[in-house]
This record gives sequence, structure tokens and C-alpha cells, in this order.
Amino acid sequence: NTAANVSIWHVCCIGAGYVGGPTAAVMALHNPNVRVTVVDRDETRINAWKGRHLPIHEPGLASVVRLARDGSKERRQGARGQAAAGATKGSQTPTDGSSHSSRQPNLFFSTACAETIANADMILVSVNTPTKLRGVGAGRATDMTAVEGAVRDVAIHARPGTILVEKSTVPCKTGQLIKDILEAYRPGISFPVLSNPEFLSEGTAIRDLMKPDRVVIGCESTIPGHRAAAALANLYASWVPRSKIAPIGLWSSELCKLAANAMLAQRVSSINSISAICERTGADVSEIAKSVGMDARIGSQFLKAGLGFGGSCFRKDIASLTYLAESLGLPEVAAYWQQVLEMNNFQRDRFARHVISSLNNTLRGKKIAILGYAFKKNTGDARESPALDVIRILLEENPRCVAIYDPLCSAADIQRELRVLEDDRPLMRPDGPVQIMSSAYEACADSNAVLVLTDWDMFKNSRPVAGSKPVEVAVDQFDGAAPASILRLPLRSEKPPTPPET
Ligand code: NAD
Repeated sequence: NTAANVSIWHVCCIGAGYVGGPTAAVMALHNPNVRVTVVDRDETRINAWKGRHLPIHEPGLASVVRLARDGSKERRQGARGQAAAGATKGSQTPTDGSSHSSRQPNLFFSTACAETIANADMILVSVNTPTKLRGVGAGRATDMTAVEGAVRDVAIHARPGTILVEKSTVPCKTGQLIKDILEAYRPGISFPVLSNPEFLSEGTAIRDLMKPDRVVIGCESTIPGHRAAAALANLYASWVPRSKIAPIGLWSSELCKLAANAMLAQRVSSINSISAICERTGADVSEIAKSVGMDARIGSQFLKAGLGFGGSCFRKDIASLTYLAESLGLPEVAAYWQQVLEMNNFQRDRFARHVISSLNNTLRGKKIAILGYAFKKNTGDARESPALDVIRILLEENPRCVAIYDPLCSAADIQRELRVLEDDRPLMRPDGPVQIMSSAYEACADSNAVLVLTDWDMFKNSRPVAGSKPVEVAVDQFDGAAPASILRLPLRSEKPPTPPET
């Protein structure tokens, strides 16, 4: 057994973001004898992870963090009670079995990157890998700055033999780049490199981590590679059935993450392309999705026509895939995947133009309410929201006001995202055309149209408020294609979800 003498006592996760934080918390929860420390250069973020208000909202996350981070202090009873209550309701909250009854804290958050790296047996690199904005490959290639920075820190500070795990989504063959950096800084020292891409979705991160469809572990076909992979597999095996842990090659593992995201996004673009045909013909895309999805070979997931995919991953991962294909001399492959992105843009454009034409082709003097900014429900992540593209097109028509309300995205996060729309006009000054409201009711008051752009449950059953003034627009749906609803009337103000607390 090649794994026999690889013991992992201390895991360091570099990057306390949407992936690093929840992944480390779940790993710590299920491996009470392993110390898991999440490090980040962002002190505000680390302080939030240490405090009562976590920096990200994920159903069930607060209970997991509380159990692993705080252990069995006096607050244990309350934490266990809540976790157990959540579990019985069938939520994503973990069942807090008796094994946790006297646990010591084993999840830590810190800005002391060098020191933590130096003490680690295994390091998960879970830093951001956005699209490059400038220079060679701008708009498509992956910006590897954060990965390089993290790997340099590992190269400088880690003990020989420390296992380095790529959790970030990276282009195929990044493992080679990592090995080159390690070799340049520490010639002749061995650091096994693994790839362990993360497949969680925001909004269901804890459920996805607790019950993953699979855990992919990519390694080099060498004895140290297999031993390192076995050590990581052992950590996962504390809660994931062995049959779901898939050991594969390093390059396959890196590429399979891009392939998975590309294929999920492709389904969304495929059904959206059909929705455009529905709009012209009178066919109903939801009936089509249902019938098509009943085919066992196709399946029903990711077949909902809408505003298209958003969030920080799908677009940038497909862009990365197209860039990779092109750099490998495969322009046909690049063009194939590029079309998935084009269809996504087309859908938003189509929707925004539909709104404008429903309002007699002019938005001058009109107020448009936007309910929901997050790219999907149950997350406060405002990055790459479809709403941004819709708002961009609406603003070209000089509306009096675009009033946005989202129950979880902070005004600061929405404003940061919208900044790309500012040219010479300050959009978000107090009397500017973009306003971020603190309730749905405020956003909808006196509006000419209400657009529901995130599928938050609280907007699902929105009904006109009796006696309220009708708005101009008389369109309920996008001609059966329903990428998002256009409601007729202001809504009752509903209670937003409680902010995350530990
Ligand atoms: P994020 O931006 O939320 O978090 C990344 C964190 O890394 C930031 O807090 C940043 O300060 C920190 N960081 C960067 N360089 C650092 C360094 N050298 N030292 C210490 N900290 C550093 O990103 P995320 O959404 O968690 O995504 C991380 C990776 O996981 C990306 O590659 C992404 O593509 C992938 N991924 C994301 C999701 C998702 O739903 N967000 C899902 C699967 C995979």
C-alpha cells in the first residue's frame, strides 16, 4: 500500500473565498484530527470568517463553520441543536452525530500565510483564476497571477515533500507550470502536485460538498504522485464513499473541470436557443424542456430557459477552454465552444430588447424595477450577473431610474459590479439613474415595469398588491420563452432571508 506512510495532520488552504472557505470547513468537520487552516491576504475576509458574520452566504455553512471552528465550547449545545434541526428538515445542514460531541476546534482562519504554509503537510490552492483583462489572450486566457503568487509562497516556505493540490480551476497542464515554479525556487526538492477540481455550485455549496457526485483526484503516474493522491483520498473518504472518489491523470483532472462547466453551460445555451424559436412560433419552451428532459439519455437538469448562465465561473471557464483550444491549433474546437457564449449574450440582449419594445420602444422618463441581482438564488455573489447585461442595454434608453433590489447582494457589491457601466455619467449618485433599494416594495413603487432577474423564492409567487397603481407594461412572460418574468404591479415587501451568522 503506497499510502501507508503519508499522514496528513495539517492542511493549509490558500484562498478564503467561495470555494476555499466552505471546502476547508467541510474537510475539517469530517476530519476532527486534522488541523485545517485557511489563509488569505485579505484581512477583512479572514476577520469575517473568524467572526459571527461570515463573508459569504451559503445555506448550512454557518453550522459547519461553527462546529469545526469553535469546537465543543459552551455554545456547542445551541450549535448542535440548530444543525440537527436543519438536518431533520432535509436542509443542507450537516447531521451533527455524537462524534462531534466533544470535538476540539480544528478549523482556523489566518493571514499568516508563510507560517501556515511552513507547518502544512498538504496545501490546497484555492485562489481566484479570473479571465485576463489585458495583454496576450485578454478576455479569454486565464489570469494565473494569483495561482503563481500562491505557488511561489509554497515554493519558498513549504517543507520538502509537502503535497500541493490545485483546487482552483486552471488550464490543462498548469501542473507543469507549478512544478517549474517549485523547481526554480527549490531545485531538486520534491513536492507532489495533485489536481482536485471543485464542482460545487454557489447556493448549494454545502450540500454539494457533503454529498458530491464525485471527487476527482488527478495525479502524476509516479510513486510519490500515487501516494499523495491516496493521502488526499483518505481525507475525503471520511465522508465520501470510496466509489465516488475518482483517481485520474493530472492533465485529465485539470481539463475535466473545464469540460464539465462547458457542458453544463452548453445545455443552458441549447435550451435558450430553442426558446428563441418558441418566441417566433408560439411553442412553449417549458413544455419542450419537460418532454426533452424525460429522455433518460438527456436528463432534466440544466434545461431551464432563462437569462442564461452567470456567476464567476461558466463564462470564464469556457473562455479559457476556447483559448486553450486555439493555442493548441484547434480553431474549430474554439469556435464550437465560443458559440455557447454567443448564445448566452444573445439571450440577454433579446430579453432586454423585449422589455424595451414592450414599453413602446422608449424608456425616457420611466422607472424600471429589477428584483434580484445575484446570478442565482441563495447566494449573495454579485459577480457576472445576467442583470448587468440587461441593465447595460436598458440604460442606453435613458430611463428615469433603474431601481434594483436583491435580498442578499450588498449595495457595495452591486455598485462595484455596475461601475463598468459608468462612462462619463456617474450612474450611482443619489439622484442618478441607478438606485439600489432596501426593499422590493421600494424598488417597485411607481415603476413602469418590474423585471424579476433572479429566481429567489420570495419573488416566485409575487402577486399584484390590491389597489396599487397598474404599471404600463402588460407583458407577463417572454412569449412562452420566459427567460425572466415581467410582472405587472408592485409587490408586497417580503421579509428577506436572515443574513448568515455563526
Ligand atoms: P474568490 O475570489 O472568492 O476567492 C479567492 C481568494 O483567494 C480571495 O479571497 C483572494 O484574496 C485569495 N488569494 C489570492 N491570491 C492569494 C495568495 N497568494 N495568498 C493568499 N490568498 C490569496 O474565488 P472563488 O470563487 O473561491 O474561486 C476560487 C477558485 O475555485 C477559482 O479558480 C474558481 O474558478 C474555482 N471555482 C469556483 C467556484 C464558485 O462557485 N465560486 C466553483 C468551483 C470552482
